[in-house]
Order: sequence, then C-alpha cells, then structure tokens
Amino acid sequence: MVEVAGQVEVLSMLVDGKEIQAIDGRTILVENPARHGEAIARVPRATEADVDHAVRVAAAAFKTWRVAAPRDRGRMMMRIADAMEAAIEDIAHTIALETGNAIRTQARPEAKTTADIFRYFGGVATELKGEVVPISEDMLVYNRREPIGVVGGIIPWNAPVMLGALKIAMAITAGNTLVMKAAEDAPIAVLKMGQICSEILPPGVLNIITGYGEEAGAALAVHPLIGKLSFTGSTEVGKLVMHAAAERILPVSLELGGKSPAVVFPDSIDDKTVDGVIAGMRFTRQGQSCTAGSRLFLHESIYDSFLEKMMAKLSTLKIGDPMDETVDMGAIINRKQYDRVCSYITEGIEQQGARVLMGGLPPTDGPLADGFFVQPTIIADVGNDWRIAREEIFGPVVVAIPWSEEEEVIQMANDSHYGLAAYVWCKDLSKALRTAHAIESGWVQVNRGLGQVPGHSYGGFKMSGIGREFSLEGMLESFTQRKSVTVNLS
Ligand code: NAD
Repeated sequence: MVEVAGQVEVLSMLVDGKEIQAIDGRTILVENPARHGEAIARVPRATEADVDHAVRVAAAAFKTWRVAAPRDRGRMMMRIADAMEAAIEDIAHTIALETGNAIRTQARPEAKTTADIFRYFGGVATELKGEVVPISEDMLVYNRREPIGVVGGIIPWNAPVMLGALKIAMAITAGNTLVMKAAEDAPIAVLKMGQICSEILPPGVLNIITGYGEEAGAALAVHPLIGKLSFTGSTEVGKLVMHAAAERILPVSLELGGKSPAVVFPDSIDDKTVDGVIAGMRFTRQGQSCTAGSRLFLHESIYDSFLEKMMAKLSTLKIGDPMDETVDMGAIINRKQYDRVCSYITEGIEQQGARVLMGGLPPTDGPLADGFFVQPTIIADVGNDWRIAREEIFGPVVVAIPWSEEEEVIQMANDSHYGLAAYVWCKDLSKALRTAHAIESGWVQVNRGLGQVPGHSYGGFKMSGIGREFSLEGMLESFTQRKSVTVNLS
C-alpha cells in the first residue's frame, strides 16, 4: 500500500479498484494536530487530470452498476458493514491521529457509527421502489426510481469517516457510482475505508481522491460527466459548489454550517440538562461539529446557576493526547482553524459587556502548547447580533444569552442565516414541542443532545443546506431520479 519517502509513508488514492498516485507525482503532507511538527503520512495531490481519470472510470462503471439488483447492492453494503466493524480499532486510531479527536469520546464512536450506516443502507436497498398510478383501466402508469449517474462527493475533516460513509452508502446503494474527494487534513482513515469497500465493490464503483479543495474539489464540481454533486462543508464553499451545479443544472445536495441555538427553560436546571447542553455543544469534539449548540439561550431565572453548574462540569474534562483513553477532549484540526478560534475568543475578551467565564485564549506553555489545544470557553452576556453569536466559530466556544419571554427567545433563536440544528430543554412537553415547531431548523432535539442516528432524515434549513441525508428518504430524495412510464394497454 505504501512507499516510504524519507520517514513518511506515501499513501495511495483509490481509482478503478487500484491504488494510484497523482499523475504528476505530487503529494500533500498530513500532520498530527496534537503534536506540532509531527508528520503522519503523505497523500497524493490530485489535480484536474486525476479528477478527469477518476470520473471517466466511474462513468464506465455506472453502465453495469446502475442495473445491478438493489438486493445485491444491499448485500455488499452489509458485507462492508461487517468489514468496517472488524476494523473499528484501526479506523478509530487513524481518525484520532489525523483529526485530533479523542479516541474514547469521538474517534471510536465515529468508527462504530460508520458500520451502522453501511448496515442501515444495506437493509433498505430494496426500498428503492416506485409506484403504480391509477389513471385508467387501459393505461399502466408507473414511476421508477433510477440512479442519477456519477456522483461527485466532497467531504470535510471534522467527522471524515462518518460523513464519507454516508455519501458512499447512499450514492452507491442507490445505483450511482462515486468519485469522492477527502479533506486534505483528514484523508487517511477515509482511504482505509475505501480499501475495505474496494475489496467488496466492483472496480470503478467507488473512487476516492485526495487533494486540495481549490484544485481537486473545484475540478470535480465542474467535470462534465458528473451527474450529481453532494457536498458537506462550509457554507462559503457550498455556494461555489452550487454555482458550479447551476452552470449545468445539476442536482446538488449541500450539508453546510450552523450556529445552532440551545434553548433552556426555567424548569430545566438539573444535572441531566447541563450534561445534555455540554454534549450538544460537542465540547468533546472541540466544538468542531456543524450541529454544535453554540448559542446557549438560558432563561434569566436560571442564568447564573446554570452557568455555575456548567462550569463545574466542564472543568472536569481532561484535555490532551487524543490517543489517551482517559482524555475527553483532543486538539483543533490545524493552525488555520486554531488561529480562527483564537481570534473569536479575543473578540469575546475585547467586546464590551461580554464576560469570559472560563477558558479563553489557550496556554502558551506547558503540554497543551505542544498541539492545537483550546480549553472549553464560555462567553456570557453576549448580544445575539454580535459576530461571535452570528458566525460559526467551529471551536469549543459557547456564547450564553439570557431571555425572559418565550416569544423573544424564539425570535432570537431564528435570527440567524443558519438553520441546521436546535436543542430545546424543557420538562413541559407541550411548551417544548411548541418551541420545537417554531424554530427554523432542519433538526430540533427536545431534551436530547446527542448525534444523528441512521434512519432519521437530517439536513438544514436556510443557509445550512439543501437535501437530506442519513435516511431512506434522504437517499431517495438526494440520490435517485424519478422516471414516469406510461403504457397504453388498449
Ligand atoms: P470547507 O468547506 O473548507 O471544506 C470542505 C471540503 O471542501 C474539503 O474537502 C475541501 O477540500 C473542499 N473544498 C474547499 N474549497 C473548495 C472549492 N473551491 N471547490 C470544491 N471543494 C472545495 O469545510 P471544512 O473546514 O473542511 O469543514 C468545516 C465546515 O463543514 C463547517 O462549516 C461545518 O459546519 C461544515 N459541516 C457540515 C456538516 C453537515 O452535515 N451540515 C457536517 C460536517 C461539517
């Protein structure tokens, strides 16, 4: 699988069932975010020519894959699920190493969820069915669900294997072939998953390329043989992908950013809610989650006491080496994100009226200075219209905002260009559901702060995206096209 260049392994891309390098031989260095200057491996730096090759291979494979029986495609997904399950420790280890996500709290659960994703889509493969439409006795009108063609998939680094598995399982189970570009910061575990899949899928059905967004990602988005674009990442890049899709009227799914509200009612000052808010903020993933409940709206009657409880719990989180089983929270992905998170914290420190209750700028010496570690940070008394309350920080930084009236908090929660996730914490279920229904987000959790489970449709409102993933409906909506056939029986 690897050659050795100096001390660092050079990994390969997966195209046509083969392990290949970039045509011009260039590579990208992947570094360990928890240890400054530690190189992990090199991966190929794909450019337009590599993308063209991969897409042509996928287009050729589509001719036979599109007519493979859904039952057989489903069986292959089940086999991939078993193989992924057997590889959980290796995959988890690799995720922790390249992303900085702690192995116990994040990397291993991500690897486990990935196996579940393949198993779920394998199980629903035969549900790719259409309908018969009762027009008249002498006409047979039916709808078929057909695959679209070659899907161009682009994924981010924050949950690389899970997000990659979603694209693979949905696109390929539905009968499409896929060229997927991994994120430049976290391509290694995705390549390992690709190898596992390639032992089970026919060559050319799944192709994984590595490279920079502006080079390989942009080339994939504009390739003329792509039939559908499926992008997960920032809203900024999502717009570029949508522009590329618009040029050719391509169907496009976008899973983008968020600045999700967590609304706590006065009856919810218990430990379970505090734990749920901390989980929902994804502190143990350093806040690097699109669904992080990063705008915390606390009722004024519990504002101070809730924050006290939250600080007490957050101060027990152990930050450090992602490979250490006792560590709760690892490192931020790279220098750019680290600097970005720090600049938002600085803004909070300097903002008049705001109070940094805990955390703040990271230490400049000691073990935490050896990697991109940022402590859990709470900035209180924030205005909902400030930049730190409007923009996605993508770090372990939560802003706390007090509220007094239900109508007011719903208005504040909805005053965002994002609409991905939301959390409502309230014991009175009718009030909780009234709030859940009034919030403009694609996914609202009531008294729960955990992640997605295969089977529920997931995706954003507003500038958080278009299309749904994670479910049968998501697969049908985003990865098939409907054809109507009318037959004259008279
Ligand atoms: P990003 O948008 O910078 O990069 C995502 C991917 O797009 C990477 O593979 C990158 O190489 C590629 N890319 C960059 N520029 C490109 C271009 N011009 N053309 C084509 N591809 C290009 O995002 P990121 O920093 O990797 O990830 C963080 C973002 O992803 C956050 O905004 C987060 O909210 C979002 N996200 C959303 C979801 C969701 O399901 N809604 C899930 C995870 C992450």
